[in-house]
Amino acid sequence: MVPVAAQDRTIELLRQLADAPGPPGFEEPIRKVMVDQMKPYASAITFDGMGSIIATQGSQGPRIMVDAHMDELGGVVRRVTPRGLLTMQMLGGWLDQALVDQRWIIVGSKGPVHAVTGIRDVHVVPPEERTRVYSRDSLFLDVGAKDEAEVTAMGIGPGDPVVPDAPFTVLNGTDNYLAKGWDDRVGCGVVIEAMRRLATLPHPNQIVWTITTQEEIGLRGAHTAADVVKPELAIAIEGGITGDVFPGHPEETQVRLGAGPGIFLYDSSALPNRKLTALVKAAAAEKQVPLQLDVVQGYGDDSAELQKSNGGVPTVNLVVPIRYTHSHNGIMNRRDFDQMVDVLVALLQKLDAATVARVRDFTP
Ligand SMILES: [Zn+2]
Repeated sequence: MVPVAAQDRTIELLRQLADAPGPPGFEEPIRKVMVDQMKPYASAITFDGMGSIIATQGSQGPRIMVDAHMDELGGVVRRVTPRGLLTMQMLGGWLDQALVDQRWIIVGSKGPVHAVTGIRDVHVVPPEERTRVYSRDSLFLDVGAKDEAEVTAMGIGPGDPVVPDAPFTVLNGTDNYLAKGWDDRVGCGVVIEAMRRLATLPHPNQIVWTITTQEEIGLRGAHTAADVVKPELAIAIEGGITGDVFPGHPEETQVRLGAGPGIFLYDSSALPNRKLTALVKAAAAEKQVPLQLDVVQGYGDDSAELQKSNGGVPTVNLVVPIRYTHSHNGIMNRRDFDQMVDVLVALLQKLDAATVARVRDFTP
């Protein structure tokens, strides 16, 4: 049982992480939240040249990189029309159907500006268009301005970041939490909680906690951060994909919300190291945590960049399952989260010099 005080602390942490804006390339607000949270547990915090956070815990043993990304799905203002409407360049993998009739926040020079992607009114839509999805290029952000000058006066213009406006909510007293950006703020939360525990627990290695930028537009921050960290072994912590609501094909994913953390055995960007996946399974068994095995096509994550760095690095991608990723409203489960932290801490405590050498040994 997790004590009530710890539960409240974690809820507040997850609320802060989820609500902070931070689309790719504009990670300033979430970076500040993360640095403030990591500082008490890190012996040093530095940044790479693209803004990723690199925080070290421990000074001896193999260099283990633990990665989560801080950017979220979003967009940038593309253009302001003379009538005071704005068009938007999306950042990250959005479905067009997720964009219509949503509230957004534009991070402007004078503070946040509320916006809505309006919907074409049903009273004028011809019957044959009523089931159609409107493309992203036909949408406008409406900030309530009457013309371009009024938009400018709000302190916003082309290039300004846009994020979903979807505040954190505990869903009806359950242990399921609704918010934007669980991909990958849930991973950021796992990092903070694991750092907190490992500040007082022994671990036979140097852990380099790395919170990357610009994952959603091509794993860019992970590439440059790995150049700096030069890991011997790396672990990515991500939001996973559930298949427990919509009747898709069972081969898409079989992961369920609330059924335990997950390990990726395949995705289209990376294959994990098999000796490392065996260690993860052993750590989960030790902690009596059910581990969901996942194989998802059409999914990429930072481990793909990490494994190609430093002459080749054993990696694995561990996930907290999320319903409805890449949208305004995703759901995570608190027990999945706590169990992910349990498994990660147990795994890190196993990674001593001899074990890392064994994982990295390819002698036939
Ligand atoms: Zn992600």
